[in-house]
Amino acid sequence: MSELGPITMRDLSLIPVERLRGVGPKKQASLAVVGITHLLDLVTTYPRRWIDRTNEARIADLVPGQEALVLVTIRSVTKRTTRNRRSMINVNVGDGSGRMDLVFFNQPWRERQFKEGLHVALFGKADTYRGGLQMSNPVVDLIGDRTGKIVPIYPQSEKAQINTWEMAGWVEETLRRCAERTIADPVPEAIRQRHRLIDRSEALAGIHLPDDMKTKELARYRLAFDELLRVQLVLVLRKRALERDSLGIQHTIGGPLVKRFYESLPFPLTGAQTRTIEEINADLGSTQPMHRLLQGDVGSGKTVVAVAAMLAAVDGRHQGALMAPTEVLAEQHATSVRAMLDGVTVPDPGNLFGDRPLRVELLTNRVTGADRKQVLAGLADGSVDIAIGTHALIQDTVDFSSLGVVVVDEQHRFGVEQRAALRSKTANGAVPDTLVMTATPIPRTAAMTVYGDLDVSVLDELPPGRTPIVTMWADGGLMEAGVWNDIKNEVAAGRQAYVVCPLVGESEKLEVASAEETLERLAFGELQGLRLGMLHGKLPSDEKAVTMDRFRRGDLDVLVATTVIEVGVDVPNATVMAILDADRFGIAQLHQLRGRVGRGEHASTCWLVTQQKEDDEGNAVVGNPRVEALVATTDGFELAEVDLDLRGEGTLMSTAQKGRSDLKLASLRRDRKLVELARGAAFEIVDGDPDLAKHAILADELDLVFSDQDEEFLAKS
Ligand code: ADP
Ligand code: MG
Repeated sequence: MSELGPITMRDLSLIPVERLRGVGPKKQASLAVVGITHLLDLVTTYPRRWIDRTNEARIADLVPGQEALVLVTIRSVTKRTTRNRRSMINVNVGDGSGRMDLVFFNQPWRERQFKEGLHVALFGKADTYRGGLQMSNPVVDLIGDRTGKIVPIYPQSEKAQINTWEMAGWVEETLRRCAERTIADPVPEAIRQRHRLIDRSEALAGIHLPDDMKTKELARYRLAFDELLRVQLVLVLRKRALERDSLGIQHTIGGPLVKRFYESLPFPLTGAQTRTIEEINADLGSTQPMHRLLQGDVGSGKTVVAVAAMLAAVDGRHQGALMAPTEVLAEQHATSVRAMLDGVTVPDPGNLFGDRPLRVELLTNRVTGADRKQVLAGLADGSVDIAIGTHALIQDTVDFSSLGVVVVDEQHRFGVEQRAALRSKTANGAVPDTLVMTATPIPRTAAMTVYGDLDVSVLDELPPGRTPIVTMWADGGLMEAGVWNDIKNEVAAGRQAYVVCPLVGESEKLEVASAEETLERLAFGELQGLRLGMLHGKLPSDEKAVTMDRFRRGDLDVLVATTVIEVGVDVPNATVMAILDADRFGIAQLHQLRGRVGRGEHASTCWLVTQQKEDDEGNAVVGNPRVEALVATTDGFELAEVDLDLRGEGTLMSTAQKGRSDLKLASLRRDRKLVELARGAAFEIVDGDPDLAKHAILADELDLVFSDQDEEFLAKS
């Protein structure tokens, strides 16, 4: 038997649970209900808590008013109904030292749970009641006859009729049977040592049957690492395969155009811009196509970085393209990029002077007729150096002479397919380099997982001289009146304002109605006498453009808008924003919206307006964690972390396909450091062994754990 070598996860996945002592047909069926059919399922069903009996108290020692853990035996259970028709379960329990009562309100099922003679662990606060001790609604864990200092508590299923001590017993038996052959550890020794990871056998024993809490922690750390490593391996394998399969362009770095561009900038680059440009240049100069995500908060100066990357393409006689999610944004980009590149020339041997002006063209669905024809012809013959547009850029009818660098702005508005379509516009068979820019900060570790096939650069520094934005929460009508006053004062001082309309469901029609309603209300009410304009997604694009122009020129005082202004709109003279029903927006969206002010020399204010809420009993509800987070900080990355915290874990895979591949122990929130270690380890393994031929057990484990569906999901998100 020992010739067989250590037991792998695959081996465990092939042994049915009925091979265990004590698992007959009935228990087998019960286990199947909770998805446990083979030993692998059993050993990867981890305890949800561990009771540390070294902290255990005896009933006689309980101090009224203090929380404590006691292990007791059930003596008797009685059920009653209180006067206001709530159920009340009274339970008398005892240990060697004494007795006490438990009382549970509104938990009628407890009557079935508590059988006389059962051993339970209680955690709660004892109080004196009618001369004796009583705990009300303590945390209860059934522990059966488990002994040991640490008692694992498994997820229990009333429906499936499985107890935690049965689970513990089966896991114990499984691990005992594995002991002779030992459990294989597919993670290379060097990586384990470097990250102080305990052996997998030890980890499995340590998570299920720990001697102390420290052992359990080390075990959790190791097994969480394994979960994250597997995810990262899938992503890194895919990333490397993509790179292998595609030939990129080796761009000219530090060419004359780029140099001149830096010299022409009226400001020095920030440290973050310099670092990011270096990272991008390393990609551009290599033969492998770049797939890089550039994260940078609003105003961090992503455009400069994007232009530098596109100019590197032009320096090598290729073209650059910048794709924006909306026409308004594309037009704004075109205006600002043209301004940045004003007067720049490119070599042109066919020209009398040996050069010609660099040509930047806009391509959206609004560019039509002869103009469109000209732009298309210029893209095809290479006389357009930089194209800026919407998804119109990736239509089949658009041919580039030699597309070298593609910048995609605000990626969350584009699908993966669209990115892929742009990449498919190759230059003589070579894939253009892609830079995806997003102003929605994603915590770095989440980015590593969600955009696992992209490299990540972060602009984590704002250019100097920004005027800070003061964010205030206006809760209820009284405070809202102050908001309108503030707007009137700012307008009187020559400034401008945004009013963001309440978010109404998913329907664009409702949103338009909401915008119209808000405009009307303000025009005839609070903001009477000011020049108001309106912007929403359903307006014809030329009307939108006219309104934006008027606002930019200062012909409008207040722009009433839906979230269409979320991205890109840049009017430095706008210094106040009021977001109505702010509590309906997500943190990221509020942050994006707020970024529309604070773009000029004047101090800015963002008002988050909410309607005061009451609970069922008519008390004002205080506290709104999202709004409060926005008030507390303007740092997008900090907000992204808060957002992740507030939204909780969620699953990594789509909810429909929870399963083996899910993170059971690892948490993207708590284990940020571990995600980075796992990603590093995945690169190390894959780069030393591209098809995992030398890591057969690990490769097999990936096959075992991830369905094709999972892999697709990971790759696509
Ligand atoms: P983002 O696209 O990241 O929101 P932009 O690229 O639009 O930011 O830049 C915001 C503003 O900051 C622009 O007016 C730009 O000219 C300016 N800017 C960019 N980089 C710097 C810098 N290094 N120093 C000063 N101002 C800068
Ligand atoms: Mg921008």
